[in-house]
Amino acid sequence: MSEPATDLSLRCSRPANLMEVCGTHSHALARYGIKQLLPSGVRMLSGPGCPVCVTPTRDIDLLVALARHEGVTLCTFGDMMRVPGTRSSLSLERAIGADVRVVYSPMEAVEYASADQARQVVFAGVGFETTAPMVAVSVLAAAEAGLTNYSVLSAHKTVPPALSALMEADDVRIDGFLCPGHVSAVIGMHPYEAIAARYRVPCVVAGFEATDLLLGLQMLLDQIDAGKACAENAYERSVRPEGNLHAQTVMAEVFEPCDSEWRGLGRIPDSGLRLRSKYACFDASVRCPMVVEASQDPPGCRCGEVLRGALLPEECPLFASDCTPAAPVGPCMVSTEGACAAAYRYGDPTEVQVPAEAHNV
Ligand code: SF4
Repeated sequence: MSEPATDLSLRCSRPANLMEVCGTHSHALARYGIKQLLPSGVRMLSGPGCPVCVTPTRDIDLLVALARHEGVTLCTFGDMMRVPGTRSSLSLERAIGADVRVVYSPMEAVEYASADQARQVVFAGVGFETTAPMVAVSVLAAAEAGLTNYSVLSAHKTVPPALSALMEADDVRIDGFLCPGHVSAVIGMHPYEAIAARYRVPCVVAGFEATDLLLGLQMLLDQIDAGKACAENAYERSVRPEGNLHAQTVMAEVFEPCDSEWRGLGRIPDSGLRLRSKYACFDASVRCPMVVEASQDPPGCRCGEVLRGALLPEECPLFASDCTPAAPVGPCMVSTEGACAAAYRYGDPTEVQVPAEAHNV
């Protein structure tokens, strides 16, 4: 006897715009084809959850300037290599002789600094609350080892202030946030409780497997159907209400909040992390201040709108024509977490799918 078919369809009686905040979610939703299970009138918008994508062009230009600096070894995660700055990229600088190294952990950069103390080793600190604790540990390790040639250019950002900025923007209506599992494992549930209460918007933390995503989305839709707005956890096996207290402590020891510029969202108060003054000797912006000429985003690129859900990747005129993963124009096509890369890889680039109803309100 055959098993009865399982109906995986998601249910909601109202139209809604849901935003997946996390770039890893963007790729998982596309890879598993979950958007096709959404009820009529419910749409997913990609948000500012890819750290490489939200890093503004000026910060890329600063990293390029550092890479060109005599005696500097610049260490970075691989995703940053091909992100275009105004006139160059780290990949291009390496090709013409700069000492730019791809690392898998900031501790590798500390090892480089320890092995060759004649060179200044700078780590490109790009990432959210998932990355910042590792970078904080690298600063503490360098301090303990007495290294004077290791520093961090901190462009770290924190997710909750970006959600508030999105709710206060007037060009996109968001009815629910699918919140990132890995960031939430560090920060816990409390920041979302404050956002849900303040803006009357449901927030559900989800993991990255297909079943995690389906569960998280249905919990969001159930809240919308019931007219509720609270923070819920669909990833309890990894996310505790209080988060990872050790990671929070290490991060708070080394970093303090600061205003930060986001591609697409502008300057958001207290959304960045800078090194505290007691660790100023490990701050590349203090040790090696750089001046860059006026920065300019790639002509025609609309990543800023994609990152706040105001534009679907397929709606960018350059999508899949002038801009592809092999020849990316903007960071959302470069990064393995970028929304444009997800749409290109898992969608049909010859078929532009524009939803029937407008998503800008
Ligand atoms: Fe930018 Fe390319 Fe995406 Fe257009 S398709 S928004 S140019 S990354």
